[in-house]
Amino acid sequence: GVRDGLGAYIAKPEKYAPDVVVYHNDDFVAIHDMFPKSSLHLLLLPRDQTKTRMHPFDAFEDAEFLEKVKAETRTLRKLAAGELRRKYGKDSAQEQTRQAALSADPPPDELPRGRNWEQDIVVGVHAVPSMNHLHIHVLSVDRYSERLKHRKHYNSFSTPFFVPIEDFPLVEDDVRRNSTKEGYLKRDFTCWRCSRGFGNRFAELKQHLEQEFKEWKKL
Ligand code: 5GP
Ligand code: ZN
Repeated sequence: GVRDGLGAYIAKPEKYAPDVVVYHNDDFVAIHDMFPKSSLHLLLLPRDQTKTRMHPFDAFEDAEFLEKVKAETRTLRKLAAGELRRKYGKDSAQEQTRQAALSADPPPDELPRGRNWEQDIVVGVHAVPSMNHLHIHVLSVDRYSERLKHRKHYNSFSTPFFVPIEDFPLVEDDVRRNSTKEGYLKRDFTCWRCSRGFGNRFAELKQHLEQEFKEWKKL
């Protein structure tokens, strides 16, 4: 069924490279999310047959497996940050300062640092995934995308429904273990960047996200 759609990438990554599959190795396949909820949205798919059908909370109880996944997400986070730098780096104030220093004659002894785009990437899983194969989201923080069309799309990445990979292993009584689709996803909207509240006014939130996106990428 439609919930098994990610399985094809694990089985035959070659077939989907380079359009959907970004890279693959024996243990993982990294892909572009087909319905991105941010300007950059990747998924990491572990290929371990004993884990791929498990809920992430259960799969990550295996400490060795969790470490392996965390290590791979660090690689993918770097790759994603590089992609953001290519897409937006030239516009950013920090990059312009850096370029100006580089072209000064003589150039200064110490160059200003470039922007650390890795801080603008979030990595985690949904408390209640909709797709059956184990997958970890790796996306830019902007939540700016034409595909972000429903309130649940925004809230699934902007409330505790989204569980950062750094939070694993979860403690036994972590409230997120009992997440349902009803609770977090129906919350009032809060802007990821300035924390402004938008109630349930989705159109207004979308407009605001566009403004925030423009400022964020030029930061
Ligand atoms: P979940 O809510 O299960 O954590 O997220 C599943 C993700 O998979 C969603 O972001 C969705 O856009 C993405 N997705 C669903 N079907 C496909 C597909 O066939 N191909 C790709 N590349 N992504 C998909
Ligand atoms: Zn805002």
